[in-house]
Amino acid sequence: MTYDVIIIGGGPAGLTAAIYASRARLKTLLLESMTNLSQITMASDIENYPGCDKVMSGMELIERFKKQAKDFGAELKIGDVTKVIPFKCDKKEGWRVEAASSSFDALSVVVATGARPRELGVPGESKFCGKGVSYCAVCDAPFYKGKNIAVVGGGDTAVEEAMFLTKFADKVTVIHRRDRLRATKILAERAFANKKIEFAWDSVVTEIKGDNSVKSVTLKNVKDEEKRDLECDGVFVMIGYAPNTGFLKGFLDMNEKGYIITEGTRTKKEGIFVAGDARVKILRQVVTAAGDGATAAYNARMYVEELKGTAYK
Ligand code: NAP
Repeated sequence: MTYDVIIIGGGPAGLTAAIYASRARLKTLLLESMTNLSQITMASDIENYPGCDKVMSGMELIERFKKQAKDFGAELKIGDVTKVIPFKCDKKEGWRVEAASSSFDALSVVVATGARPRELGVPGESKFCGKGVSYCAVCDAPFYKGKNIAVVGGGDTAVEEAMFLTKFADKVTVIHRRDRLRATKILAERAFANKKIEFAWDSVVTEIKGDNSVKSVTLKNVKDEEKRDLECDGVFVMIGYAPNTGFLKGFLDMNEKGYIITEGTRTKKEGIFVAGDARVKILRQVVTAAGDGATAAYNARMYVEELKGTAYK
């Protein structure tokens, strides 16, 4: 079977592409990874997606996207994609998308693989992963009722999730390598007003220590190089993201960080489009991912109709 479009990735960009493609009556398959879950599923509260006037969790929002895509006829399957290769479909130029245990053919592909949390790379991080080290507040916050937590990072994610963690923890220390936050002003204001949040400024974590689980982190002040231990029961690492594009290395143009270089959502490969956080862009938000998804699906539709000779001119 040949699909008109295969969408790789089940986050806001991929699901919006699926909604738009299936609504345009393209035969649409979306492959969702089980190992790299969409970042949005880890978000505790979404309050800046238009129309979400009541705060909802990322998981709730994504379930709505999914239902909408399925209702329009998109097929959703689990599959970790390992490769995309050129393939002739029905005598037309197309693409074969290879997943771990099966492969699928399509005339066009939308890459919407997003990004995954970055790691600190300090001693103790991998040893205590799941035993105090976490990259997802929504997943692990309930384990820290009445405990002390450290959150590493100074961006929107660190600040937003630090506030969420105060619903459970007694104290949350935000460790940031600068003397001011990168996070949006409104989030910073809320964090400064939260009595359970403290800040360790100009500091980096050099080691995570414990026995069976995390007991403390070693902090180094970047200005005077002084070291000290901060006692805590958990460390939430929220220092940004790295794109899930490794399987496309050498196939699509990328920058030094692995983000795919596009013109709008187009790549230099005919019929392959990119939407969302995996591409080079200025603002990575649910709303911009959704916008990309819609544009990529529109471009895929134009491409497929041209290929089939059914374009309305
Ligand atoms: P981010 O904006 O890239 O911030 C990462 C933070 O981690 C920065 O403060 C950075 O420090 C720090 N950092 C990076 N590497 C580090 C290291 N090795 N050690 C210590 N600190 C390190 O990432 P993000 O906060 O995850 O946000 C990602 C994107 O999602 C952003 O565009 C953000 O606006 C968006 N987002 C939006 C919302 C919302 O709108 N509600 C919520 C969450 C995320 P420096 O500041 O020194 O670089």
